[in-house]
Amino acid sequence: MMNYENILREHNLKVTNQRVAILSIIEQKGHISIEDLYSKIKPDFPSISLATLYKNMHAMLKNGLLAEVKVENSKTHFEIVSDNHAHLYCEKCRELVDFDIEFEKLNNDILKGSGFLLNKTNLTFSGICISCQNI
Ligand SMILES: [Zn+2]
Ligand SMILES: [Zn+2]
Repeated sequence: MMNYENILREHNLKVTNQRVAILSIIEQKGHISIEDLYSKIKPDFPSISLATLYKNMHAMLKNGLLAEVKVENSKTHFEIVSDNHAHLYCEKCRELVDFDIEFEKLNNDILKGSGFLLNKTNLTFSGICISCQNI
């Protein structure tokens, strides 16, 4: 498990119980929509409003602790920033899974082929996950 307090401090963010709870839920789920996050955090913080949650998420996005994962025809998901990876999105169960990709190689191929210099990569592949294939 991550040390959320240290991570918050490293990103110049104030440590609050709500932020620690948000991070622990996101780490546990991997990727989560704001609506699901809200319903998960509500039992422990009954007074939290959706606006407060948005404000906290925005601060953590701005300081590079969280990242948005945009999925076509689905809600935006949030994750804790980690090394570059692609996402596999299951069209049936709507689960998002991380998939490691050799981005350095990809960047080099793109640079060689087109001279284009990448600085941000957002790759999501859609399809059917292994457990949905077996239903
Ligand atoms: Zn699936
Ligand atoms: Zn991810």
